[in-house]
Amino acid sequence: MRIGVLALQGAVSEHLAVLEKLGVDAVRVKKPEHLEGLSGLIIPGGESTTLGKLMTKYELFSPVRERVQQGKLALFGTCAGMIMAAREIVGYDQPRLGVIDITVRRNAYGRQVDSFETDLEIPVLGPEPFRAVFIRAPYIEKVGTGVEVLASHDGHPVMAQSGNVLVASFHPELTEDYRLHRYFVQQVVK
Ligand code: GLN
Repeated sequence: MRIGVLALQGAVSEHLAVLEKLGVDAVRVKKPEHLEGLSGLIIPGGESTTLGKLMTKYELFSPVRERVQQGKLALFGTCAGMIMAAREIVGYDQPRLGVIDITVRRNAYGRQVDSFETDLEIPVLGPEPFRAVFIRAPYIEKVGTGVEVLASHDGHPVMAQSGNVLVASFHPELTEDYRLHRYFVQQVVK
């Protein structure tokens, strides 16, 4: 099994390092041809407007969207990657994949507490709480049909799954806890 990490901007090497620690063949994705033979793709955190511009420039939107919708590629979007996966973004009409029926709010925690860490209950990962790092993070404001909320913080969903698409508001690549990547590799990638 080979998993790609979208390597246009953001926390790319951290995700690659976690995948390698899990024994997964991990590659950088910059162009459409790099999607060949991949079972899964991680879109890392960064800045969603920049990611959108670069994905447009490198003509990645259609091939990624098609593969995900056809069930050929599983997707894991973290932070800005969650924004890229979402169907709607409150107040912004920026390019996105629209492969999961959620409405997200960018920079949802405001300026004063824009970055923080917290222990999250994520039942699908087991009873141990998950240390979650939020950096100018979005949260999910609305979920549509077929979307399962897997974790919430302060009453707002911050992790969700719909079939082969997994999204999280926070940065699981910045801690030593690899359970979320393992969940993606074992339960979401088919
Ligand atoms: N604030 C960024 C955005 O709106 C996301 C931040 C992140 O990915 N850490 O795109």
